[in-house]
Amino acid sequence: MKNTFDFAKIIQLKAMIAAARTIAIVSHTNPDGDAIGSGIALSTFLKAQGHTVRFFVPNHFPKFLSFIPGSGQVEIYSEACDTARSYISDADLIICSDFNQIGRLDKMTAAIEDNIIAPRVLIDHHLDPPEYELSFSDTDYSSTSHMVYDLICAWAGPEAITPDTATALYVGIVTDTGNLSYGNLTPELYRAVAALVERGVQPVEISRAVFNTQSEHRLRMVGYLLSEKMKVDCGHRTAYITLTRAEKTRFDHQIGDTEGIVNMPLSIECIDFSAMFIETLDCIKISFRSQGDFDVNRFAREYFDGGGHKNAAGGRYYGPMSEAVAKFEEITRTVHPECRNV
Ligand code: 5GP
Ligand code: MN
Repeated sequence: MKNTFDFAKIIQLKAMIAAARTIAIVSHTNPDGDAIGSGIALSTFLKAQGHTVRFFVPNHFPKFLSFIPGSGQVEIYSEACDTARSYISDADLIICSDFNQIGRLDKMTAAIEDNIIAPRVLIDHHLDPPEYELSFSDTDYSSTSHMVYDLICAWAGPEAITPDTATALYVGIVTDTGNLSYGNLTPELYRAVAALVERGVQPVEISRAVFNTQSEHRLRMVGYLLSEKMKVDCGHRTAYITLTRAEKTRFDHQIGDTEGIVNMPLSIECIDFSAMFIETLDCIKISFRSQGDFDVNRFAREYFDGGGHKNAAGGRYYGPMSEAVAKFEEITRTVHPECRNV
């Protein structure tokens, strides 16, 4: 890992924060455990330092994340656009956490763009970071929550991490690494995890809250998708799953219910590239996962207006499901082997 949180940059961050009367932390649409965990930890830490901070995400986060202490402070932009918009566009400092493209904030993007005065700070582990006044950007980290852990340690030492903050960070780490099973599983990561346990994390309770609290509907939907909707093409080492709006209704789909399903085909021996197509009101949202060298970030950027990481990315298609799938099949049959050698 590079020296991402070096002394000079922490000094600069402290100065920017000290100069700001109001601070807005923002994270991405369809917030996941890492977006919520890192944002809560950062805002709790800055509040404890006496700063005025609010943490916004564009839309709702999955219900299973509401056990994180402090989740009540997360503000959902789509629910209180007016007050949130005026706070964000008047804030003295904007901290962008766990995303690399301002467009990933959907309707919240306009509130940020309205604010032409506030400097931006980036804390993120995605490829291709934007140019901001101060950037903590490092793709070697498997989660932004691990970055926030290092940031707090560099700023104030691990003693500044309360049991509640440790819990938020741990949730971000385990959700972005599939419970420490993929991503960059470095010695530094395990040392951070050990330190978080020392700071009060209860790993068994958190595992249960994060991984074992799904609804019966959700588990039946997974069974249906794997049995009826998964297409496996061992020749191209590719599998994909589709989920329509009608199927979502049938299984009483709730926010977060599709989380993790795209990873499942990767457990088939001949598969190293998996996609999931989810029909929404305005587009087909697509998730991509790979293992090994195949670069799904590049694939998502080139063909599906998206991006992400080398092994986990997302994109979208504006048109019917059948067209999205036809385009995908065409690409995997022809162009996509190029991406395998990146
Ligand atoms: P997911 O498939 O879980 O929605 O997203 C996987 C990864 O891809 C996440 O790290 C997320 O940041 C990124 N990602 C998902 N959708 C998009 C998108 O539309 N644009 C970009 N740039 N990244 C995305
Ligand atoms: Mn993340």
